[in-house]
Amino acid sequence: MTTAAVIDKKALLAKYIAERDKRLRADGNAQYLEVKGNLAHYLEDPYTPRVERAPKTDHVTFAFVGGGFAGLVTGARLVEAGVTDVRIIEKGGDFGGTWYWNRYPGAQCDTASMIYMPLLEETGHMPTEKYAHAPEILEQCQRIGKQYGLYENALFHTEVEDLRWDAANSRWVIKTNRGDEFTASFIGLGTGPLHVPKLPGIPGIETFRGHSFHTSRWDYDYTGGDPKGAKMEKLADKRVAIIGTGATSVQAVPHLAKACKQLFVVQRTPSSVDVRANKPIDPEWFAEIATPGWQKRWLENFTANQAGGNAEEDLVMDGWTDLSRRIRAKISQLPREGLTPQKMLAAYEDSDFEKMEEIRARAEAIVKDRETAENLKAWYRQLCKRPCFHDAYLQAFNEPSTTLIDTDGQGVERITEKGFVVAGVEYEVDCIIYASGFEVGTEYKRRAGFEVTGVGGQTLSEAWAEGMKSKHGIHVLGFPNAFFVQPTQGANLISNVPHNLTESGRTIALTVKHALDVGAKEVEVTPEAQKAWVDLLLTGAGRMMGAPDCTPGYYNNEGQSPGPAAKYNVGYPQGATAFFKYIEDWRTSGQFEGLNFR
Ligand code: NDP
Repeated sequence: MTTAAVIDKKALLAKYIAERDKRLRADGNAQYLEVKGNLAHYLEDPYTPRVERAPKTDHVTFAFVGGGFAGLVTGARLVEAGVTDVRIIEKGGDFGGTWYWNRYPGAQCDTASMIYMPLLEETGHMPTEKYAHAPEILEQCQRIGKQYGLYENALFHTEVEDLRWDAANSRWVIKTNRGDEFTASFIGLGTGPLHVPKLPGIPGIETFRGHSFHTSRWDYDYTGGDPKGAKMEKLADKRVAIIGTGATSVQAVPHLAKACKQLFVVQRTPSSVDVRANKPIDPEWFAEIATPGWQKRWLENFTANQAGGNAEEDLVMDGWTDLSRRIRAKISQLPREGLTPQKMLAAYEDSDFEKMEEIRARAEAIVKDRETAENLKAWYRQLCKRPCFHDAYLQAFNEPSTTLIDTDGQGVERITEKGFVVAGVEYEVDCIIYASGFEVGTEYKRRAGFEVTGVGGQTLSEAWAEGMKSKHGIHVLGFPNAFFVQPTQGANLISNVPHNLTESGRTIALTVKHALDVGAKEVEVTPEAQKAWVDLLLTGAGRMMGAPDCTPGYYNNEGQSPGPAAKYNVGYPQGATAFFKYIEDWRTSGQFEGLNFR
């Protein structure tokens, strides 16, 4: 194992900076194309035919925008609390959110299924693998939808276009692209952070005459195979390029490498790819551990290992908890006397350098071609970009079909009628697959597709013009009876997002139930309570991910200053474990301190 003692940290940091500088570009987020106009076909749903239906003009108690995990868990908790007319509005053709769209071969969760898949205990489902594949996760979404009766009221292939508070009647008016105009006493918003596919702004992209698609709209009609991993036999005579080497590409490439006549993996920045070690879950073992309350225990244990807890054991034992274990081990080696924040930070850095050296050594050990192995090494700190875990990605570059086209941080120069150009060389291909990710840094309205207009006609974009302001990441002043389901300004636990969502679902269900029980028509955070919460958040250490010295990506706003608003994109200062404890106490106290029921 590499140790801090033999790492030349100064040289390494200089290399990191040089690699970052190579990639910095003035256009930041503007380098990507918004998928619309003559590119709009990249958004079409290849999975479910659209069904005509009459517009809705009725009233429901709760309308939720987004049919992914956020909508499903909130819907489930509302139903448990007795609120049964919940209408979920979803742009896809079924529930699932990210797992509806992302059916690319090899798609799989990166956080252990036992804690990643929501409501396992409630639905009685045992995950089949430590890291379940996408079809099983989609089935779990459908299972939740069925079990809680959420299908009956759901509107699929429907996009919200406007959400407006009707103060006179204490309710929300919802308009959609299907001509619906209905009302709801309460609304929930869970549109997720990564659902609008983006395309790289490569000159000539619209001139390509071959076939092309984005990974979140996988064209199995063209490739053959299926999301369950059947071989994509129609690619046997095809030359294919996949552009992008992020978490999606890392999972898809091994399958493409086995199927294509020729595969070009076009890389701008390598991902860090650590060991996956997936394995089936043993039903006997599961039966033993799955005693009442098991998923909550597992969730809390993972979070304690990750974020501010004092976990003695590590139930999940995955790449994420490994990272945290190493950091804690380093810090615990420091003499207690004179333990300063600077020394702790240095220990954290040492453990990061070591980990990244190991990951680079892994590329060298697995990939046979020396130049390819060198080019696959990631030169940045681990949390600069999304860490990846895979046991067949690096190996795919040993397949005779597969060639890494490294662009030395510059990206693809041009797309032509016949293929793509890197460093002046044209590569002819039949198909280009864009593994180019999703919009993150663009403005809320563009990503959501609608504006939320609250009290006095104030829009959410206006309310958050200087940064997000909320209580618990759920309630926003000026937007009564509206609930946001997402991690920021709450636990902010990025390594297991569903934990944040299931907790918010519980909180919202109890809040709504309380409003109905006491006959309140409106519930809204008070100005004092929102201010106090935001002030508390700002006492924390700030953001850990995507430091300015990182190579550009969506974690650090493509290397550009995120602006003053970014300081609000934080979580509870005491960490996720403390937040979950706090919020459980808050909602079960029955006081709903900081909210005004009227
Ligand atoms: P990413 O945004 O992570 O990756 C996009 C890729 O496209 C990058 O490699 C990027 O390079 C590359 N790229 C962009 N522009 C160009 C260009 N002009 N020329 C060449 N390459 C280019 O998208 P993903 O879909 O891979 O992942 C998005 C997120 O979704 C992940 O970070 C993760 O949060 C989530 N995800 C989770 C999974 C899981 O949990 N199992 C699986 C897959 C995704 P560069 O790095 O230089 O910008």
